[in-house]
Amino acid sequence: MSLSISKINTISAFDAPVRTLLGPGPSDVPQRILAAMARPTIGHLDPEFVRMMDEMKALLKYTFQTNNAMTMAVSAPGSAGMEMCFANLVEPGDKVIVCRNGVFGGRMQENVVRCGGTAIMVEEEWGKPIDLQKVADALKAHPDAQIVAFVHAETSTGVRSDAEALVKLAHEHDCLTIVDTVTSLGGIPVLVDEWGIDAVYSGSQKCLSCTPGLSPVSFNNRAVAKITSRKSKVQSWFLDLNLVMNYWGAGAKRSYHHTAPINSLYGLHEALLMLHEEGLEESWERHQSNHLKLKAAIEPLGIDFFVEEKYRLPQLNAVNIPAGGNDAAIRKTLLEKYSLEIGGGLGPMAGKLWRIGLMGHSSNEANIEKLTMALGDVLGA
Ligand SMILES: *Cc1c(COP(=O)(O)O)cnc(C)c1O
Repeated sequence: MSLSISKINTISAFDAPVRTLLGPGPSDVPQRILAAMARPTIGHLDPEFVRMMDEMKALLKYTFQTNNAMTMAVSAPGSAGMEMCFANLVEPGDKVIVCRNGVFGGRMQENVVRCGGTAIMVEEEWGKPIDLQKVADALKAHPDAQIVAFVHAETSTGVRSDAEALVKLAHEHDCLTIVDTVTSLGGIPVLVDEWGIDAVYSGSQKCLSCTPGLSPVSFNNRAVAKITSRKSKVQSWFLDLNLVMNYWGAGAKRSYHHTAPINSLYGLHEALLMLHEEGLEESWERHQSNHLKLKAAIEPLGIDFFVEEKYRLPQLNAVNIPAGGNDAAIRKTLLEKYSLEIGGGLGPMAGKLWRIGLMGHSSNEANIEKLTMALGDVLGA
């Protein structure tokens, strides 16, 4: 054939290296989950696959601690779960209060604007949690606001905001809530029903330790009511919950919407099953105790934490890069010499922070020991 593409003859099967993933996601994926994903691909309307989807919904309800019928996994990464929440709940002209204390709050603003809404920003310094008083002030100044959106666990800074209090405040002002739990789910408590969260999304590759590419979401009846009574069509066909409901909906006769990523869903099913076997509370405790072990191990190396203790995320440890430490060179050495990945800073935090993820399966003592040893080596401590 005449079409020639350079270098193609030298390509062979991609042999991924084995890494220890201690960054902001993906986290280490257990062999058991990878094995589940290697099971035979079947049709997405096969009764056995439909049964698997029903089980997945039950497992997701447990993980989110909700009875919401509208609980499922979007066939795309966390960003698509975010987009599904905004695209369905925000109509042109709607006012949304968006809290921003890091990168992901900024993406929420971008979503609101692209849906034709107006984003009222409540800004907080990076590294600090969302200030309830500022949100209360914004709600008073904008009584016509319909939604409050915030990130529970800001992966860019390692900060936990008080989701329960924020949802309560929003409800006092008759607002719905959209909550990003991509990094929190499985790692710290996310109690969707008890806190009254109206729309929530997460990701498969952080504390659930599955491969990236799926986004668990859940909508309560108030959120579904707003969606079904929209005046305009949801601008995104793929993410229109009215259509997706017919595919994932309770008891509904499944009709073709898109082809679900069959094998990826096997993986998430297995990941959620493993989380259920361990127990949610046990998982939260494991993340917390390993966070404390990490702290005890790296502070003697002269590494201190960026976030005030009570707001720290155990699964995402933002630490200040020690003075004189060459960020890029050190992370390169960790990867090349120890096959170990940690995250750099995002946006304004680039070059200032490292983000050490102890998410899901990655949160274990052996990884802490390995990282401590490697950091001690590269820092010459
Ligand atoms: C990772 C992350 C996302 C985006 O998830 P993707 O799977 O990368 O699309 C959104 N919000 C937060 C807080 C995250 O940490």
